[in-house]
Amino acid sequence: MNPLALTRQHRELHCEQVALTAIAQAYGTPTYVYSRAAIEAAFASFASAAAGRGVLLCFAMKANSNLAILDLLARQGAGFDIVSGGELERVLAIGGNPARVVFSGVGKTHAEIRRALELGVKCFNVESSAELDRIDAIARSLGRRAPISIRVNPDVDAGTHPYISTGLRENKFGIAHDHARAVYAHAATLEGIEIVGIDCHIGSQIVETAPFLDALHRVLNLADALEADGIALRHLDLGGGLGIRYDTETPPDRGAFLTQLLDRVDQWRAVKPQRAGVEVIFEFGRALVAEAGLLLTRVEYLKDNGARHFAVVDAAMNDLMRPALYEAWHPVQTVIERTDRPPQLLDVVGPVCESGDWLARGRTLAVAEGDLLAIGCAGAYGMTMASNYNSRPRPAEILIDGAHMHVARPRESVQALFATEQTLPLI
Ligand SMILES: *Cc1c(COP(=O)(O)O)cnc(C)c1O
Repeated sequence: MNPLALTRQHRELHCEQVALTAIAQAYGTPTYVYSRAAIEAAFASFASAAAGRGVLLCFAMKANSNLAILDLLARQGAGFDIVSGGELERVLAIGGNPARVVFSGVGKTHAEIRRALELGVKCFNVESSAELDRIDAIARSLGRRAPISIRVNPDVDAGTHPYISTGLRENKFGIAHDHARAVYAHAATLEGIEIVGIDCHIGSQIVETAPFLDALHRVLNLADALEADGIALRHLDLGGGLGIRYDTETPPDRGAFLTQLLDRVDQWRAVKPQRAGVEVIFEFGRALVAEAGLLLTRVEYLKDNGARHFAVVDAAMNDLMRPALYEAWHPVQTVIERTDRPPQLLDVVGPVCESGDWLARGRTLAVAEGDLLAIGCAGAYGMTMASNYNSRPRPAEILIDGAHMHVARPRESVQALFATEQTLPLI
């Protein structure tokens, strides 16, 4: 966690100046808690290294799309990387500028493409020839030209979990590097298409710089080949995927990381005058918000089945899916440190009827029934992946700003879960 977001003061955990016990008292549990200062600091760590270097920092909003957070980032100058029409509507809802939006994703529908064209997004990151032809047809029917990049699959191994690795030939994302030049040549013949860039995104939770440099190297080689083919690019989109420290990972310093990539781009820019104005886009999600958020939960029961000890808490896999989906590790701390009982080895599990419903395993914690736990580094891919499985309303989201608790989203009501469902008429 970012220390701006979570500190222990007098044995009690605080987010900024607010005690987590006060948040639980005011809004109940489970609740997502985010720190404004931590989000702004994360953005600033990239923005300061990128300043004056021809960079657009887009926030990949699938990591956390609460409007309060999008608004904070937009105020700091972020653009957005979106993967659905729903996410595009969120940009509009905060008064964001579609001209600072890049549209990624392998399955864009007709309706999504039309809406994005009408609003004037900055770029479609195209993931297949079939998608290219569809975008071309829709753009022509609207009498427009669609700005596109081809998402190339640079075939680099990001050394991450198979479910969050996207840059290898074998997965569904992007167009194979060897094939990309031919797809660009085809794109150049299409009346409804305007080639503006090249795009790659090699995976997520990558904590080394080397895979990014490898991918950049391959992207620049392809840009050279396209230049030789008479295709001029206006931007290079290097994707997102920079990891954070959940446990013992040691991700690079953000400023140093960005500087290393941008220095390499500058060398490339310096070779020919027409490259000088080529913009660089990044699409970070996790690195901007993960460490700014936590999931606050209460212990309902302690349970012992002989072989293992369990803390059954009121949060579950439907609230925070990452452990069940990726066997992800999140830090867990007791909100108030206990000295009246010894720590014990236990699993933190939820009430959902699935064996996969665990949040943390094999932790050493001194807890009693009723205690609050903070599950850290939950600001990314937490609430956005939450579901209503087991008819569980999704958590409240509270954005802490200094000493102020801002309700970014109230807890969902049970009634809201089935308010639009209808039973068959009796006959
Ligand atoms: C998910 C995603 C991102 C953000 O990934 P992070 O690991 O959260 O930085 C960026 N670009 C694309 C295309 C994505 O799908």
